[in-house]
Amino acid sequence: MNVPLLDLKPQLEVLRAEILDAVTGVIDSTGYILGPVVERFENEVAEYTGTKFGVGVSSGTDALLAALMSLDIGEGDRVLTTPYTFFATMGTILRTGATPVFVDIEKDSFNVDPRLAAETLEEAVGSSNPIKAILPVHLYGQCADMQPLLDLSKQYSIPIIEDAAQAIGAEYPLEKDGSIEWHRAGSMGIAGCFSFFPSKNLGGIGDGGMVTTSDKEYAAILRYNRNHGAEPKYYHARVGGNFRLDTIQAAVLSVKLKHLQKWHQARRKNAATYSSLFTDAGLVNEPVELPHTVYGKYADHEQHNHHIYNQFVIKVPKRDALREHLANNSIGSEIYYPLCLHQQECVSGMPGIAKQHFPIAEEAAMTSLALPIYPELSGEQLEYVVRTIKNFYQ
Ligand SMILES: *Cc1c(COP(=O)(O)O)cnc(C)c1O
Repeated sequence: MNVPLLDLKPQLEVLRAEILDAVTGVIDSTGYILGPVVERFENEVAEYTGTKFGVGVSSGTDALLAALMSLDIGEGDRVLTTPYTFFATMGTILRTGATPVFVDIEKDSFNVDPRLAAETLEEAVGSSNPIKAILPVHLYGQCADMQPLLDLSKQYSIPIIEDAAQAIGAEYPLEKDGSIEWHRAGSMGIAGCFSFFPSKNLGGIGDGGMVTTSDKEYAAILRYNRNHGAEPKYYHARVGGNFRLDTIQAAVLSVKLKHLQKWHQARRKNAATYSSLFTDAGLVNEPVELPHTVYGKYADHEQHNHHIYNQFVIKVPKRDALREHLANNSIGSEIYYPLCLHQQECVSGMPGIAKQHFPIAEEAAMTSLALPIYPELSGEQLEYVVRTIKNFYQ
């Protein structure tokens, strides 16, 4: 049996005619840059995420860059974030001229630890290099612990930019007047940054991204910045970039967005199946640590996508040997991420970053392994994955 890490073909087969129609529509319109198709998709994503504005951009990376630039973050500033995420989170901070301040992750969620964030923010008070933003990542499709982060944001008047690249539709329970309200990723900070890279839960047929916000003035600055800071045309009060979302991508993504909840649901069902298969096989905790759905205790599983499982990531001993064993049995897997950001070569010349240690993140980098979780996997395929893992540890 063959179980790829991700197979986009089954999804394409179902939507192929509709996608081709959408693409042809753009081609025939000859309106190739921004325009009503992009605006419609921006409104759809704003509505879906529970925000007022969507600003379509060229990638998740450019969403982060535009979000940072639009807060005037640059030289001399610092941005608090996690060392355990995709490179773009740090890359964009560095590209603005600012410096990342890392705090370690929580063991259970792989996300930034708010208690450590609190310590770091307190230490930074009065610093000549102020912390200008908090940039939590909703890793693998589960929201970071936003309530304490929002409290810190308020206490120190530091805005939050959410890296929601892997988490469109994920939900977090915020407490209000003693009851729980579910908020979607990208709607809790000033900005939510999304990626439509093909392997994300909502993926285009190429690169794409979006920034969501409910702040009207900030949305306007984002729009200027994605178009070289021009307002009006050819008058540049700011230096932005060309961060525009391609119109063809917007047309395709509008088609796919209608199916997103159903796909999330199928991924969650697969995660539940994995969980019971691993339990039945006697592998749970020793040797396989399953992903923790941290907000599960609040969740009504039918209604709330508290975790959208962009990735299903286990922690295991002998990780690299297991990965090879899976590959030998035609099962795809991936390591997200083999190095933490402070361990990357490009920051080795920055001792303030490179000399630090983040034990929980470093342990995750050595033990985590993503298994196939895409919606169209069959029960037989999931059984085969768990059986193959059981064989390895026997
Ligand atoms: C994918 C991703 C990005 C970057 O998105 P691109 O569209 O590939 O530029 C940023 N942050 C995280 C956490 C991601 O997973």
